[in-house]
Amino acid sequence: MSIRTRLYTNLFLSIFLTLTATVVSLYLISSYLLNSKLKEVYTHIFNNYKEILKHEERDIELLTVKAHVEDGYYYVEKFSGTSCDRSPHYRISSVGLYYGINKAYSDGCYFIGVKVEELLDIMKSLLGVEWIIYYDRNSIKDAVDLDKFVKDKIATDSILIDKFSDSKVLSLPLDVVGYRLHGSFFEKSLLMEILIVDINQAYFGKIILVKDVSGIYKEVYTTILALFFYSIALILLLSFALFRISSFLVSRIILLRDVAGKIEKMDFSAVDLIKRQAGNPKDEVCELGESIYHMAVSLKSTFEELQQKKKELEQMAYYDPLTGLPNRRFFFDHARILFENSKRYGTDLSVLVMDLDYFKRINDTYGHDAGDLILKSFADVIRKNTRQSDLPARFGGEEFVLLMPNTSLQQAKIVAEKIRLSFQNSHVVYKEEKIGTTLSGGLASFTPKVESIDDLIKMADEALYRAKELGRNRVEAYEPKK
Ligand code: GH3
Ligand code: MG
Ligand code: MG
Repeated sequence: MSIRTRLYTNLFLSIFLTLTATVVSLYLISSYLLNSKLKEVYTHIFNNYKEILKHEERDIELLTVKAHVEDGYYYVEKFSGTSCDRSPHYRISSVGLYYGINKAYSDGCYFIGVKVEELLDIMKSLLGVEWIIYYDRNSIKDAVDLDKFVKDKIATDSILIDKFSDSKVLSLPLDVVGYRLHGSFFEKSLLMEILIVDINQAYFGKIILVKDVSGIYKEVYTTILALFFYSIALILLLSFALFRISSFLVSRIILLRDVAGKIEKMDFSAVDLIKRQAGNPKDEVCELGESIYHMAVSLKSTFEELQQKKKELEQMAYYDPLTGLPNRRFFFDHARILFENSKRYGTDLSVLVMDLDYFKRINDTYGHDAGDLILKSFADVIRKNTRQSDLPARFGGEEFVLLMPNTSLQQAKIVAEKIRLSFQNSHVVYKEEKIGTTLSGGLASFTPKVESIDDLIKMADEALYRAKELGRNRVEAYEPKK
């Protein structure tokens, strides 16, 4: 897996994990916020209801004359029975539901209560709470004349809905236990249950308080949404920054790898790229780049030195250091190929073997250095009078050879004469003295009878010997023995 792929995979994974963690955290935060806010609302409404009930209880305590209370708001009903328990409770009559206490008067026991509907309307105006009152049919059948009571009320098999603040609340579920939420994603209502119990704590109905809490949901959702977008923006921004930094780092590493790969193949063309990369402030990659650069520079110079040495060794192995002409070894390496070529295709090939005349005498008279000068000047003469395709060489001492491919004996004689005359007319100046000599040459040309280059050279040598014999400063061609 490439470093770039690994980087992208890890980055994608980090974004995915961070996003998941963010969504989960935001969900938990929103749940916590909603729960605590709803609990607050719930407690506030309940406490208010309890306060109102307590307040009413105190008012009823202060009422002394029962006649004063028969004005619609309060309700008074005499009842028979031995105990006149004062504990507050709900009581149902044919007129409606009341909350109050029992009070003993001289003529008997009376229930004095407040219409619950009135209390709930106070709640509505104070806290914006809607409400609905319903009874358990079975539980109230002894307390009221059910047939008359059912009239004008909404009835099902088991319950009777008595009063409600708004017809909208009829669409809400009544099976609330404690409290519950109802509604769509944004339109939510908090439903709270208040049990209606009589003096004996027997349950006979429920009051459901309904508070529209859509505002709370909208507020929390807006906050969470803002937080969500903020987190997304932050994640993307951080990922982008991280991506840029790592991408830059990766491309630098890849560049180093590519350059190192080239260096491995002794290609130093890209080395300058990593030198330019070294910047400020320096980091580990910079340092690595620098160290590769320095390694490459020293490797390059060692490599170049080696190349130079190799060239020199080749030069030494194949060229004569004094005249710069190819040596015997070079000559035979190439001459064999040229000979085979002529043999195969039947092309002309001539060889000229040359030996300087009375050279020992020059050495003896003027010294070795003068002799060297003449050898060099002779090499120049050869170079001037031969073609690029010819193969000259110094065979050793003052013996030279010239192999001429695609050259007949006739043409070779012309070349040999040119060299001979040119050398005869040349001289070197040594210690202000003009020194010169001549050459003798032997020529031989390839014929199908000649088997090897060595044989051809032998033939030319024979001719040379004859040239010396015949008085020197001349070129003789090989003549087969009769
Ligand atoms: P001939 O005309 O018969 O060829 O006479 P020669 O004197 O040229 O013949 P010989 O072969 O006896 O002499 C060749 C001399 O060339 C002997 C040697 O000292 C000299 N010589 C060989 N190599 C070098 C060299 O590299 N430099 C110099 N200066 N002299 C060399
Ligand atoms: Mg000689
Ligand atoms: Mg000689």
